[in-house]
Amino acid sequence: MATNIDVSNLDNEKAIEQCYENLIVIDIGANLTNKKYSRDLDSVIQRAKDAGVQKIMVTGTSVKTSKEALRLTRIYPGILYSTAGIHPHDAKSYTDESWEELRSLAQNPECVAIGECGLDYNRNFSEPDEQRKVFHKQISLACELHKPLFVHEREAHEDLLEILGQYKDRLPPVVIHCFTGTTEQAVTYLDQGFYIGLTGYLCKDKSDTGVRKLLVDGTIPLERLLVETDAPFMYPNTRASKLPLHVKDALTERSMTFLHRYCTFQRNEPCSLPAIVEMIAAFMNKKPEEVALATAFNALKLFNLSQ
Ligand SMILES: [Zn+2]
Repeated sequence: MATNIDVSNLDNEKAIEQCYENLIVIDIGANLTNKKYSRDLDSVIQRAKDAGVQKIMVTGTSVKTSKEALRLTRIYPGILYSTAGIHPHDAKSYTDESWEELRSLAQNPECVAIGECGLDYNRNFSEPDEQRKVFHKQISLACELHKPLFVHEREAHEDLLEILGQYKDRLPPVVIHCFTGTTEQAVTYLDQGFYIGLTGYLCKDKSDTGVRKLLVDGTIPLERLLVETDAPFMYPNTRASKLPLHVKDALTERSMTFLHRYCTFQRNEPCSLPAIVEMIAAFMNKKPEEVALATAFNALKLFNLSQ
């Protein structure tokens, strides 16, 4: 008996210790329905938890993946949440029938946002006309259900603003996810009251007018910032990119262990989020704990994630 008690005490201590070591973060966008996770999703989620990622929003990008994302929330209640939407790349797959299915998926309480939706004129996998039509449908749905919009935009800044502007008086909260634009574009989004989601793109962007500058200049207030991995994409390559020394120095051994042991260019994982938060904080000249807390709070409030 005595041994048992000792062991559980040790476990407790370890849990408490880990709690203090870890940043508490929330990943507002991970594509966990991607087939790259089909073999070991349990381990991926466990690693995320071990790294301090308390909750993960699983991105829906089509009717099929939105359905799958919702299914995952039932397997990991209180940890996973889902979105329901049609990615601009997938706009061409739109049918009236599948739209009805998306509508009903979106009404579930575990589905906390509409999207990802938006415009992508960079690759135009779907015709711009089609993209706009399907985007309109999803904005209307978000207005109707009062659920936040999870927006994807590439090289379509003006059109996106114009379209969202048409719904100005009834728009729910809007998140520009995985923001990759210029400082100027971010300012116009912030002026509209939108939130900005940042990913490991931070390592890739070496421009003088992009995401890094936004953070250095303090253009994004903490109240509008959200963090995400966009896993399996957007691997934060802390090695190759020309990161300023103080940013490299801010990366802890703990977050680097998760990043280097489990994440690759081919498959990023939610457990890389603490490293991203540490870099964001360093660029902002703030403590990582402060950025973690603020972004987690924003996510809980905005998406109404249950405790
Ligand atoms: Zn996206």
